[in-house]
Amino acid sequence: MDEQRIQSCPHTKKCGGCQLQHLPYERQLNQKQRRVQELLGGFGPVLPILGMEEPTHYRNKVTAAFALDRNRRIVSGIYQPGSHAVVPVDSCLIEDETADRIIVDIRSMLPDFKIKVFDERSGTGWLRHVLVRRGFATGEVLVVLVAVSPIFPTQKPFVKALREKRPEITSVVLNINDRFGPVVLGTREKVLCGEGYIEDVLCGHRFRISPRSFYQINPVQTEKLYRTAVDFAGLTGTETVLDAYCGIGTIGITASDRAKQVIGVELNRDAVADAIANARLNGIKNCWFTAGDAGEYMEQMARDGMRPDLVFLDPPRAGSDERFLSSLLRAAPKKVVYVSCDPETLARDLAVLTKGGYRVQKIQPVDMFPYTKHIECVCLLTLR
Ligand code: SAH
Repeated sequence: MDEQRIQSCPHTKKCGGCQLQHLPYERQLNQKQRRVQELLGGFGPVLPILGMEEPTHYRNKVTAAFALDRNRRIVSGIYQPGSHAVVPVDSCLIEDETADRIIVDIRSMLPDFKIKVFDERSGTGWLRHVLVRRGFATGEVLVVLVAVSPIFPTQKPFVKALREKRPEITSVVLNINDRFGPVVLGTREKVLCGEGYIEDVLCGHRFRISPRSFYQINPVQTEKLYRTAVDFAGLTGTETVLDAYCGIGTIGITASDRAKQVIGVELNRDAVADAIANARLNGIKNCWFTAGDAGEYMEQMARDGMRPDLVFLDPPRAGSDERFLSSLLRAAPKKVVYVSCDPETLARDLAVLTKGGYRVQKIQPVDMFPYTKHIECVCLLTLR
């Protein structure tokens, strides 16, 4: 296994990204299995975790912070946990290697194009982050330059030179973020070349992914995750399905050929626009997507007496909320498939659902984030 290589990662101490780096991969899987058993075993049977065959360089999205070091040299990498000091990282064992190389190339090109890196101490300069997203199935690459202002005098020659150096880049976007805080991307955007998004293929469907839309970061394991979710759903073609927290519509679209109709709800408007485009891109006519809070939408459904036969929910780490779960209990779909990236909030939400009349049939952990402590689970619940 990759134990030696992982232990030789030079960034371990300062980075903090790979919390399980000291363990060989098999032992990481065992540890995650035990953790899920501890937290969720009381609700129902936990199946053996689905691990990854080649658990390195799986991240299809890489974000690098740019800064000046003490000697005013340009560095790029990740923020040290709990601080704004940038740990220089040129290559990482879990990140996509193409994305890492592009970031290093961009850094080396900056002086020639008179591009200044934003310096938090003095508040001067321009470039803050570079985000690279690569479609593993299509090879398409999107580069997002995050800067404090839209003024970019050397834009044309820079983009031309970058694409000559890295012909695999299919699109470059300038994102403006002049706010302080943990959020990398601002709300304003300008497409500098290409379409402004990439496409990727998952479970036989093609998906458009815009810079600010959520997309699972480990596509190899995502196919296992979605296949498990659709398999747990056990659809027969007659069902009305709700895909809550649907992102760019990936789960709903993957399940659509086995359902009568799919309705997706998602807060991020860019992601909803992608989801609508994705249904069209795949010639799918039984999926509808709407922008809004999942809890509010579920409440409305319950109030209108609409009863989906099945609900997929895939909330962020914080889990679902009271509003969503209580309306879900009122709408009382026969089956619920809960996809979760945090077993602790999953346990909290399962307690509400089991108290409200659901039984947990099975829980499938999937290792979406090798070498890190994070655990993904798919859970099937049925109405008692
Ligand atoms: N199912 C998708 C996305 C999962 S990530 C996939 O597999 O790719 C969780 C999604 O929930 C994100 O797209 C986020 O924008 C969305 N979200 C967060 N809070 C929400 C809320 N209150 N209502 C609806 N969607 C929400």
